[in-house]
Amino acid sequence: MLKPFVTLVLFAAAALAAPPTLRLPEDVRPVSYRLDLTLIPDQDTFTGAVDIDLDVQKPANTIWLNSRGLTLDEATLTVAGHPQAATIEPGGQDFAGFALPAAIPAGRARLRIAYHGNFNTKGTGGLFKMKDGDNWYIYTQFEAIDARHAFPCFDEPNYKVPWQLTLHVKKDHAAVSNTPILSESGEDGGRKKVVFGETKPLPSYLIAFAVGPFEFVDAGHAGKKDTPLRVITPKGKTAQAKYAAETIGPLLTLLENYFGMPFPYEKLDALAIPLFPGAMENAGLITYGQTLLLGDPAHDTIDRQRGFVEVAAHEMAHQWFGDLVTTAWWNDIWLNEAFASWMSSKIVRQFKPEWNTQIDEQNIRLGAMENDSLVSARKIRQPIESNDDIANAFDNITYSKGEAVIRMFEDYMGADAFQRGVQHYVRQYSWRNATAGDFLDSVGSAGGRPISRPFATFLDQPGAPLVSFALHCDTGGDPALELSQKRALPLGSTGSTAESWQVPVCIRYAEGAGTHRECSLLTQASQEWKLPAKSCPAWLLANADGNGYYRARYEGDLLPGLLAHASSLSAGERVALLGDVESLTRMGEFKAADALALAPQFADDPVRQVVGSVIGIAGTVRVNLLTLDLLPNYGRFIEKTFGPRAHQLGWLPKPGDDSESRLLRSSIVPQVAVFDHELAAEARQLSERWLADHNSIDPDIADAVLNTAARTGDEAYFKQLLAALHTTEDQHQRSLIFGALGSFRDPAIARQSLDLLLKPEFDLREATALLAGPLSTLTARRLPFEFVEKHYDALIAKLPTEEAFNLGGFLPFVGSVFCDDKSSEEVSAFFEPKVARFAGTRRNLDQTLESIRLCTAFKAAQGPSVAEFLRKY
Ligand SMILES: [Zn+2]
Repeated sequence: MLKPFVTLVLFAAAALAAPPTLRLPEDVRPVSYRLDLTLIPDQDTFTGAVDIDLDVQKPANTIWLNSRGLTLDEATLTVAGHPQAATIEPGGQDFAGFALPAAIPAGRARLRIAYHGNFNTKGTGGLFKMKDGDNWYIYTQFEAIDARHAFPCFDEPNYKVPWQLTLHVKKDHAAVSNTPILSESGEDGGRKKVVFGETKPLPSYLIAFAVGPFEFVDAGHAGKKDTPLRVITPKGKTAQAKYAAETIGPLLTLLENYFGMPFPYEKLDALAIPLFPGAMENAGLITYGQTLLLGDPAHDTIDRQRGFVEVAAHEMAHQWFGDLVTTAWWNDIWLNEAFASWMSSKIVRQFKPEWNTQIDEQNIRLGAMENDSLVSARKIRQPIESNDDIANAFDNITYSKGEAVIRMFEDYMGADAFQRGVQHYVRQYSWRNATAGDFLDSVGSAGGRPISRPFATFLDQPGAPLVSFALHCDTGGDPALELSQKRALPLGSTGSTAESWQVPVCIRYAEGAGTHRECSLLTQASQEWKLPAKSCPAWLLANADGNGYYRARYEGDLLPGLLAHASSLSAGERVALLGDVESLTRMGEFKAADALALAPQFADDPVRQVVGSVIGIAGTVRVNLLTLDLLPNYGRFIEKTFGPRAHQLGWLPKPGDDSESRLLRSSIVPQVAVFDHELAAEARQLSERWLADHNSIDPDIADAVLNTAARTGDEAYFKQLLAALHTTEDQHQRSLIFGALGSFRDPAIARQSLDLLLKPEFDLREATALLAGPLSTLTARRLPFEFVEKHYDALIAKLPTEEAFNLGGFLPFVGSVFCDDKSSEEVSAFFEPKVARFAGTRRNLDQTLESIRLCTAFKAAQGPSVAEFLRKY
């Protein structure tokens, strides 16, 4: 039988060259770009022209570039001095082709493309517009693959070349980019032309520019080359830049010292973007969410300042690690992100030792291992086969597992040797691209200890090892440890335990009046380790300093013995130990009721993060194992365990409180207050004061006070919050109100909060707390899924249609709090047909469904003992 349809398709394919599918062909490469754009913030569209000097390495019929959502008006290809009009060939949503009547010969060529496009007005990717006060601004965010929304280009990290930008803007606007301005000159129509200096070699994703009525704060000069520093704010906000302006210089100096190399670029600007989530390491022009970079001195918080320092150190570390040396392809994005996260932790420790952030690093490692227990978890170095994989690549595994694994191998190699290796690597690959193999070889050879093989066991397979420790003291000789490993998998997991790792294991044990630390590399499925101890240790810690990326399982009496001596451990080790205990409950190796019973022992710990760990264990029980009928018992347990300390701290700061007490207050008091009428009533009174005057209560507790008042609040309070939203302009204050609106546990009010998401006057970019908030409330946690199910089309109409990191791809996570098969089927039935709609959805849905399955098994195994435990309260 003849199939005319197939014939037609074949004919069409022969007439037009087939566009690439994921990556561009490698035989045409850019040499440099010149980009000319007209950017007027109160218009909806922009126009541009890009000139790309090309190196055509072998004759080509078509030159392919990335271009998305742009209208390409005209293209000219100049070969051997002869300009010719090029045919523009369609290439699907991500590509455009350029061809001449005859083949394009090998050699140099120049492609000029005139084009126009629309600003993104719903998201924060590509070339987007944002309003602050009465003014519109234009900003960019290109990582990972959104530069193609602003100009046709080779939008892959390995094409690293110089760029020269020229912007045409309104005369009274400022324009900023990666490099200093070379010249400004007037143009017709009240405009001016701003010419920027040529950049050092950069990939498209690190190009950035912004236009609008900005104001500038001089943050001085820092470092070996006296790099000039500025903070750039929307109009009228320079007073909020003080903390950032004082901080950036010292961080730059600390980073230069670590890298043994000056800051690589001519200047460093920090630019605030309204409603921008996170921050971006564009070379010389780091962009930050406004509420992260700026803090009104009248209501700035400890959390905001510490959060800023941590993110600034991360983005600034990228200037060397990411910008100066760039990952060759997105499968190695961990090289950028894990390294910058690890570097940030190190630099923040040096910047403010008194913050004791090494304790917080434990929670980064523990969180990563929890994520890594999913069968649907990525590998750190996951192959990239589609744009979905690129969207998924910027996850907790990349950042936090990567950071923790680097820290483990730094410890294994020695900090000084590791630093020498990093310096060697950055020098060797400056202004170029590199891969994971390059990094490990470079660090290993300079550090004197090859790490490639053991490191690869953590890079190229998912999961965290569960290392079992059995101590034998009865053999007559020295005490010996028997170690064995398998993948740490929770109850209900379908994962394989066949993997094995090469794990640097460090232990600490009691010896005489002191302690002794020993390290070894576990390379076999099981192996014996003779301890140089004269007698049987009274206790043994299986992860000394908590630097090992593994879960510890203690055999025999080791765990009770260790818990009884927990006060001999460092604060970080106590956090690590409690994290292991919690994970053992998920594996069915430790009774959840016994974990809950540990809370009183640690509730009075002098270190707030340790208290936070037992609050976390109690939270796991509440979210996964609690039935509504036991909520009052649970409340009494919380009050009895944490109440005395919460009342002692109270809502209001006391004279002389240090920052640790202030941070402990904001974590422990709200936990108790939702079950404690006195503290809840006080929260309501304080929130009334806040609503009347946002500066009337301590800024560090404002968030907790408003959320607590909402958790226990009524309709009248809901209306008060809503009214406050209409009269509050400051974005930090507005985020507090949105947080409170998302915290109501009364389902009827929680539904009204969710409905606000669809109101045209609310921008989804600042209102996501309305969707995420109810997930942490036992009585309202079904509602976000029901809302998305009912209003999917209306909701996605408010989302950007095209953007590398789109909230749409994360929507399946609204189902992640379910814990039964029926809900799992509902989530699956609803999202399965929509997985192709937003990049990254497939894996996010798989992770959600797996979480539900694991929770079901966890509840079946551990629910009864917890119920029995709580009935006593
Ligand atoms: Zn980063």
